[in-house]
Amino acid sequence: MELVYLWVEEYKNIHNQGFNFSPRFSCEYDDVENELSIKENDDYIENFFGENYNYLNSYTNTKFFLLGNEGFSLAKFEAVAFDSETERVDYNAYKLVKDLNISTCPYCNRRTIYNLQKSKGRTSEIDHFYSKEKYPYFAISFYNLIPSCKVCNKLKMEDEVAIHPYERGFENTNFKLKIKDSTFYHSVNGFDLEFKSKDNQIDKQIETFKLNDLYQNHKDIILELIQKEAIYNESYLDELLTQYEGTLFKNREDLQRLISGGYVSDEEIGKRPLSKLVKDISDELGLI
Ligand SMILES: [Zn+2]
Repeated sequence: MELVYLWVEEYKNIHNQGFNFSPRFSCEYDDVENELSIKENDDYIENFFGENYNYLNSYTNTKFFLLGNEGFSLAKFEAVAFDSETERVDYNAYKLVKDLNISTCPYCNRRTIYNLQKSKGRTSEIDHFYSKEKYPYFAISFYNLIPSCKVCNKLKMEDEVAIHPYERGFENTNFKLKIKDSTFYHSVNGFDLEFKSKDNQIDKQIETFKLNDLYQNHKDIILELIQKEAIYNESYLDELLTQYEGTLFKNREDLQRLISGGYVSDEEIGKRPLSKLVKDISDELGLI
């Protein structure tokens, strides 16, 4: 992705000013008519500045022209992109969320972040991984824009985090069940839930997003898994397989997914809220 032109209406002491970042084009934005004219620069010398000059982290192989109508606020984000020299595509935060194809907040896996289909709105916020106050240049890099839930976006504003969700997940970090007493088969007070790692960065991330605290609210799901583990013993599973294999479910794994109520592969955790929790505890209980 090449940043070509940036129009800033209001940002700190910059008012109604255009910035041309590419020597390949000359651009002019008419803020009265709301029109951008882009011309190839006849005097352009290819690779004069060497490779990678003016290139931000690539989201698609697309050149972007950003028309900021609210400073750097991505809530009002409007961009036009050219997939080729001739084809113009409007781009905005709605499309970013759609194209990333994730359905849950990547910071917490607790909330859905679907787009609204009819009114083209979003149920998510757009978090700036590197804050736009400290790093205004990255405010327009797609790599820096993380669709997230309201709670996480707010918590992160108060506390910077080190792990970029496109780069790392919660590797080797699992939810663990701690049985307290014999009531654990029918009461959420009979066990504790813990989410901890041996990695300082991950632990800091867990702390920033208050995941240990927030996930205590989902202990009812764990209780159901404990009860299912007691009901669906091996002989009952065999019985169900004899009866329904090939009709209600494909195979044993399919039946186990149905019982645990979650996706069990790591790649699919972002598809459904609380999948990481359900997967880890189902694993621990031997349900999957
Ligand atoms: Zn979240």
